[in-house]
Amino acid sequence: MFDKVLIANRGEIALRVLRACRELDIKTVAVYSQADQNLKHVLLADESVCIGPNPSTNSYLNIPAIIAAMEITDAVAVHPGYGFLAENADFAEQVQKSGFTFIGPDPDVIRMMGDKVAAIDAMNKAGVPTVPGSGGPLTDDEQACIDCAETIGFPVIIKAAAGGGGRGMRVVHDKESLFNSIQITKSEALAAFGDATVYMEKFLQNPRHVEVQIMSDGQGNTIHLYDRDCSLQRRHQKVMEEAPAPGIPMEIKQEVFDSCIKACNDIGYRGAGTFEFLYEDGRFYFIEMNTRIQVEHPVTEMITGVDLIKEQISVCAGNKLSLKQEDISVNGHAFECRINAEDPKTFMPSPGPVNKFHTPGGLGVRVDSHLYGGYSVPPYYDSMIAKIITHGADRTTALKKMGVALDELVIDGIKTNTDLQKDLVVDEAFNEGCVNIHYLEKKLGL
Ligand code: ADP
Repeated sequence: MFDKVLIANRGEIALRVLRACRELDIKTVAVYSQADQNLKHVLLADESVCIGPNPSTNSYLNIPAIIAAMEITDAVAVHPGYGFLAENADFAEQVQKSGFTFIGPDPDVIRMMGDKVAAIDAMNKAGVPTVPGSGGPLTDDEQACIDCAETIGFPVIIKAAAGGGGRGMRVVHDKESLFNSIQITKSEALAAFGDATVYMEKFLQNPRHVEVQIMSDGQGNTIHLYDRDCSLQRRHQKVMEEAPAPGIPMEIKQEVFDSCIKACNDIGYRGAGTFEFLYEDGRFYFIEMNTRIQVEHPVTEMITGVDLIKEQISVCAGNKLSLKQEDISVNGHAFECRINAEDPKTFMPSPGPVNKFHTPGGLGVRVDSHLYGGYSVPPYYDSMIAKIITHGADRTTALKKMGVALDELVIDGIKTNTDLQKDLVVDEAFNEGCVNIHYLEKKLGL
């Protein structure tokens, strides 16, 4: 096992990683920006290093500063969390070249999955179901683009190969506007991602977002840890997640789980990963793979009893998976509500001092948060400040428990989206299960 791990992140995930390291008897190094010296994990870490000023480009995204912090503290590995440098192949490569271990897959695998055209190609080869599409980059041949769209059938979506964060996509409804839309998406992709490559997919009109958690040791052993439903989204940002995805027959899921495992073994995957799918009319369609731990990993931990971060650290230290597929089963149901420091009406971030923070508790209630009374939420970073997770014997019990937990939650001093989460817990359609990715925006009148 590693002797000392540097945590290249902040907020709740940095604290989550720190806890996992401590359970594994790994020493921890926290790195932080000037605004973040009072973060909970910074106060708890064995050592801490300030890596720069407040803007993340100068601190949490500052690769030389992070590698220098590893050198001066003798950390042997870096955990990137999610966001920031977690899917940056250049960072993973520089960590390796400096003689350290990146807790994640090989840089080449990150790079391939970051190129969506290459990722889809790899998935097709492994038999993972993908969205009907161009099967490669679109060229400047207008007629070929029209032929492709007509074969797929309108509406289609033009997507940037290097896209991310819900950006670099455009839906096209007819052949008249197709070529122009492709050109606009290309120039936007070039400006935003430095790569003009775009491809085409069928636009699915009312899908759900269902994803599959996997864990690989990079030594030919991969397991799946079932699925999550993250259809409640606003502007492509997940708001509430659950595991397992309700109302999908296990035979359909099983086929997809098997194909994800095959894909991981084919590409030599190592660590924790997520295959994201759209699910419509009884079929799964791969959209992308996230080569890191995800925000919503706790719902999977609650239903499987597996500590995903400890396992991720262990396999990236070169150990074989400690679990076999037959060890993993689904026990009950879990939900996660993301609590953001934001105005409940305008959704504008609401940073500032937290006067009081009272967390809910009880059987099956988990709170992953770096907040404490007297902490001040800085304005520079993501507005998520807490995750409330509940687990129950079935979906109804877990959701009821979430309502009770949210009622107990007190965050005084800043505005949060807690009331929206309370509304969702009692929402009739959501209670019945199976809402699609547009449901929340429609409910909010957006
Ligand atoms: P990103 O990497 O930017 O998150 P994704 O490929 O994961 O991009 O897509 C983000 C979101 O865009 C999806 O969750 C879905 O809401 C929508 N989307 C992407 N592809 C399609 C498609 N083929 N049909 C319908 N919606 C899509």
